[in-house]
Amino acid sequence: MHTRLEVVEGDITKLAVGAIVNAANRSLLGGGGVDGAVHRAAGPELLAECRTLGGCDTGQAKITKGYDLPVEWVIHTVGPVWNGGSHGEDKLLAGCYRESLKLGEEHGVKSIAFPAISTGVYRFPLERATRIAVGETKRHVEGDTGIERIVFCCFGHDAYACYRPTLGRD
Ligand code: ADP
Repeated sequence: MHTRLEVVEGDITKLAVGAIVNAANRSLLGGGGVDGAVHRAAGPELLAECRTLGGCDTGQAKITKGYDLPVEWVIHTVGPVWNGGSHGEDKLLAGCYRESLKLGEEHGVKSIAFPAISTGVYRFPLERATRIAVGETKRHVEGDTGIERIVFCCFGHDAYACYRPTLGRD
């Protein structure tokens, strides 16, 4: 299986893929940034389902339905807060990508979109986070995978300009 990796600039809540990944916090009860946008677009039933999940550890992921979003599934993952880089941040961020892909795979997802996890309020340096996102994703698709398409959704030009060369485009 050959998986296509793409970079787009825009709002992840508008993407028609099988699953979008939400950069959530450990409570899974909503927040700002992409998390706020996902909950606004999905409607209140998403929060109701999230309340039943008992939160999520950093570097792990949980899945819900997509409700009013144009996707079947939302995969909620909790990125690490950047704290200088020597507190396991890299491994935890890699875990977000690995566990999200694994959960998507288990639910038969064919296409999945990621935001730049941890690079907003959690302040993970963008270039370092991008290398981890792309590296971990490539490692996953080198194995046996049913996922046909992975989209890195960049909110703003800075992230787009960072992902393109990291993926070998431009
Ligand atoms: P974190 O707390 O993990 O840092 P944020 O939501 O603050 O999460 O930021 C993560 C990334 O998501 C940032 O690059 C931010 O620009 C981006 N982002 C914010 N809103 C959206 C959106 N609607 N679609 C895609 N990405 C978004």
